[in-house]
Amino acid sequence: MLFEKITVVQADGTLLPGRYVGTQGAFIRYLGTEAPQGDWGERIDGTHGVLMPGLVNSHTHVPMTLMRGYGDDLPLDTWLFDRIFPFEDKLTADAVYWGSLLGMAEMLSTGTTSFSDMYCFCDSVARAALECGIKANIGRGISCFDPGQKFSNLPACREMEELFATVHGAGDGRILIDVAPHSEYTTRPDILYDAANFAARYHARLQVHLSETRKEQLECVGRHGKTPARVMEESGVLDRPVTAAHCVWLTQPDMEILAAHPVTVAHCAKSNLKLASGIAPVPKLRKMGIPVAIGTDSAASNNSLDMFEEMRTATLLAKGIARDPLALPAGETLFMATRQGALSQGREDCGDIREGFRADLVILDTRRTLMTPCHSALSNLLYAANGSVVALTMADGRVVYRNGEFPGLDIEKIRWEAVQAVNKILER
Ligand SMILES: [Zn+2]
Repeated sequence: MLFEKITVVQADGTLLPGRYVGTQGAFIRYLGTEAPQGDWGERIDGTHGVLMPGLVNSHTHVPMTLMRGYGDDLPLDTWLFDRIFPFEDKLTADAVYWGSLLGMAEMLSTGTTSFSDMYCFCDSVARAALECGIKANIGRGISCFDPGQKFSNLPACREMEELFATVHGAGDGRILIDVAPHSEYTTRPDILYDAANFAARYHARLQVHLSETRKEQLECVGRHGKTPARVMEESGVLDRPVTAAHCVWLTQPDMEILAAHPVTVAHCAKSNLKLASGIAPVPKLRKMGIPVAIGTDSAASNNSLDMFEEMRTATLLAKGIARDPLALPAGETLFMATRQGALSQGREDCGDIREGFRADLVILDTRRTLMTPCHSALSNLLYAANGSVVALTMADGRVVYRNGEFPGLDIEKIRWEAVQAVNKILER
């Protein structure tokens, strides 16, 4: 495919107007000011377009799209114990599959080409991702407080072995399996230790929740005499590349622990605001050299998976709290939501528009009111746009969304099946 005379926005916000971008197979093979020689297949007129790297959602639970709007404005414990957990107890592999496809369709139509996920029934999540063309780092959530239970006997352990044997690396590397001990507050330290060793054995990356709420932080100190970050460090979880979601309540020593290990923080601003957990100290984390990526968390606590909203919330919060309009500028925020996210997933050749990179690309339509006038494509995409301005999404060189259509997917069937799955769960 050849994009002609298009304004390119690179991951760090660099604007390159009037460019030609050619893709062959899964890769970007040309980026220049002149039309390249040869046959590049379909040509796309970019006069009314902005080409940006695909967004990377670095923390979500995509099957929970089924629980979008299912109990809002409730205290956190009531929401979890009276709504979410009883619903989840009745989930089936089939429900997870349709819920995943629904969430993935939302992500593709709003410009997200890759996401990191933590949930159960992960073979259903992987199957959905393979079918719709999106990239995914999939972690089977591990949690265990039962003193009589061994790591090797956990259903999660057996499922992970199966996932590594069957789908890890599938779809030309689109599907990667991560090891995902859910959090300190749901998992014994020795299970965290075993999970870290398991990850080392499979050369896998990890995902965790860390210091999301004040309660989590205080109870951990009560339980172990140390913070969740320290517990994670001592159990070896931070020795391998790990994405730590939230990180709202970190202490100064906690931040020093993170800075000394290969940790990427997944900043989930909207979810933290909606659940009233607090606000992660993003500028401070970045100043300490800790990479920060951006995630939506699930549609149960967000309630959308639109990364444009997430980027804007992140930059506005940083500015408002610092009382500094220069805090977290547009280019840096875009980098967090693209290249930084790709690196957190171990995808070195993703998350930017450069020759040799994977063709994970998004076109925004500059004819939309939200994009008019266009003094700066970067300003528009950060401070004005939402996912509805996406005209086309490409992942690994394949068009996966275009003007309301999902090639190869029956979106009406997905919506219908997802609603049926919800109804069956509520009737049970
Ligand atoms: Zn989460």
